[in-house]
Amino acid sequence: MAEKGRFAPSPSGRMHLGNLFSFYLAWLDARSVGGRVVLRMEDLDPDRTGQPWTEQIVEDLGWLGLDWDEGYGVGGPDGPYCQRERTHLYDAAFAVLRAREAVYPCWCSRAQRLAASAPHPGEVRDLGRCPCRDLSRAEREARAMVKAPAWKAALPHETVRFRDLIQGEQTFDLAWDCGDFILRRADGVYGYQLAVTVDDALMGVTRVVRGRDLLDSAARQIWLMEQLGHRPPVYAHVPLLMAEDGRRLSKRERDLDMGVLRTRHTPASLRALLRGLAGLDAVEQGIEADFIKKVKKDDIKVDISKLI
Ligand code: GLU
Repeated sequence: MAEKGRFAPSPSGRMHLGNLFSFYLAWLDARSVGGRVVLRMEDLDPDRTGQPWTEQIVEDLGWLGLDWDEGYGVGGPDGPYCQRERTHLYDAAFAVLRAREAVYPCWCSRAQRLAASAPHPGEVRDLGRCPCRDLSRAEREARAMVKAPAWKAALPHETVRFRDLIQGEQTFDLAWDCGDFILRRADGVYGYQLAVTVDDALMGVTRVVRGRDLLDSAARQIWLMEQLGHRPPVYAHVPLLMAEDGRRLSKRERDLDMGVLRTRHTPASLRALLRGLAGLDAVEQGIEADFIKKVKKDDIKVDISKLI
C-alpha cells in the first residue's frame, strides 16, 4: 500500500514552534518513505476554530515549504477536508458503533465528568465506569425525554499493544488507562477521537506523526479502528518542546508563533532549527527512510531567548 502521512492542525490559533516541529517531522517522514501527504483541518469545535486561522496555517506551511498532495486547498479523491464538512462520515461510523453496542448515552455534567477523570492518588482507577453505563433501558428512555445525551465509547478491559516508532512498545488497558470517552457531544458535535479515527482510515493515512501528548489517544484510536473494521496506521509520537521553566510551548506562547519566527528566520534556517531540535543531521537531502526512529524520545527543552 502506498504510504501516506498527514498534517492535522486545529485552526484555533497561529502555528507555533511546537506544532511546526511535529508537522515538519510528519512531512519529512512521509517524504522519506516516498509517501504522500494530506492536509485536513480539524475544525470540529465551532467555538474555538475558524476560517481565518485555516488560511493562516495554509500560508505559513507554504512559506516554510512543507507541501501536500491531497486535502485542504488542493482537493483530491477523499474530500472534503474540513472536519466540519465531514459530519455525514462520522454519522455513518457512529451508526456502526451503535449497532455494535460499543457506545452508550451519558447525561453527566461537565463537572461530573471532570471529577470522574481525575482520581485521587491511590484511588482505584477504573475510568471506564461512568454511572450512565449501567442505566437500564427504561431509565435511558426516561432521561432522553428530558435532555439529549452525549455518547460515550464503552471501553472493555482489553489490552491494546502497539509499537510506536519513537516511543517504543506501548501497552494500554483501555478501561484503566483511557476510560470511556465522549464520541459525540450532547449538541451533536463529534469528538476528536471519532473524527480523527474516521479521517485517518478513510483518507488512507498509513503513518501518523504527532506530539507525544497524544500517545494514549493512539490506544483509543486503534480500538475504534478495530471496531470500524479498519487497519490502524503506524504511529510515531514526537517529543514535546518545553520552555526552560518546564512548561510546554503552546499556542498561548505567542512569542514563538509563526508571526515572530518569520521575522527572525528564513524558511531554510527555520527548517535547520527544527532538525537540530530533533537531533537530526543538518542536511535535509538524503534523509533515509525510517530516520524517524532516531528522533529523540524525551521532551526537549528550548531556550526561547536563543531562538528569536
Ligand atoms: N488536531 C490536533 C492538534 O492540532 C492533532 C490531532 C492528531 O494529530 O491526531 O493538536
